[in-house]
Amino acid sequence: WAKADGKARWTLFDPERNAHRMTRQALASSLRPAVERDEFVLDYQPLVCLESGDVRGVEALVRWNHPQFGLLTPNRFIGLAEEDGSIVQLGRWVLRTACRQARRWQLEHPGRDPLFVSVNVAVRQVWDSDLVADVADILAETGLAPGLLQLELTESAVMGSAGRPLQALQALSDMGVRIAIDDFGTGYSNLAYLSRLPVSVLKLDGSFVRGFQYDEGEYGEASAHINPADEVIVEALVQLAHRLGLTVTAECVETSGQAERLRRIGCDTGQGWLYSRPVGADRISVLLGSRGD
Ligand code: C2E
Ligand code: MG
Ligand code: MG
Ligand code: MG
Repeated sequence: WAKADGKARWTLFDPERNAHRMTRQALASSLRPAVERDEFVLDYQPLVCLESGDVRGVEALVRWNHPQFGLLTPNRFIGLAEEDGSIVQLGRWVLRTACRQARRWQLEHPGRDPLFVSVNVAVRQVWDSDLVADVADILAETGLAPGLLQLELTESAVMGSAGRPLQALQALSDMGVRIAIDDFGTGYSNLAYLSRLPVSVLKLDGSFVRGFQYDEGEYGEASAHINPADEVIVEALVQLAHRLGLTVTAECVETSGQAERLRRIGCDTGQGWLYSRPVGADRISVLLGSRGD
């Protein structure tokens, strides 16, 4: 603690930190017009069935192609967008773009089981916007079946979600849209509570998988992260989730050893660099085409 404190005091005078604050302000002020100027792009990351190895869906991940700062990852601007409320408009753009793209893949590859698309939804979109009406409109407009849309919410978005948010989740679920809990295990919610909500997928946070025992050879470089208890916890979570009727996706699967252990434990779906980094829509089209359908 002392060290962290000392560092914080020192960085008060750090020019780098000052530059960082200025960048933050510059980003915040250019956020709103950026939505109108179409400066955002979506990458897509495959969600893979651990048993068969088939790609079942993709997660849409937003990037900001900033004219001055270049391509920015979401951790640079999603928080800002939540603070100033522009997340509602940005979120709507993400939903529409992702649904339109998923429908396009479906039409391009009629012989293949259609991919579902999983879209991250910020707390504020559930509370401040008419998310249900937006989703209904976008599905109608793009022609995507509700069953091919999954929405990812964090635990904090659904925790204590009485009233309006719960009604929204229920309405979306009644529509046939799947609700997933993102980064599960990082907050304080419990499965008993979640099982009473219209949630059908748990996405286990990457920190669990990182703690998995590694294969020989991989041991050296990653040994700092190993925590055998994580494997026990994941196994118990998967069993409990299944008995509650939920499916489980593991994030941050980086090695075949992790994938194999997750498969043995009974985890349903994996996502991570082992399969693919997030890539542009055209790369997903190529992937679909190369599977012979
Ligand atoms: P997330 O929803 O948990 O998304 C997964 C993040 O993990 C992505 O980071 C992805 O690139 C990264 N990742 C995937 N596989 C691996 C792996 O094997 N190893 C490691 N170390 N990382 C991996 P990204 O794209 O930077 O997104 C960060 C977060 O930003 C997302 O976390 C999500 O919370 C948020 N986000 C992204 N797009 C949107 C969006 O359209 N709307 C909202 N509200 N939030 C978004
Ligand atoms: Mg997500
Ligand atoms: Mg996640
Ligand atoms: Mg995560």
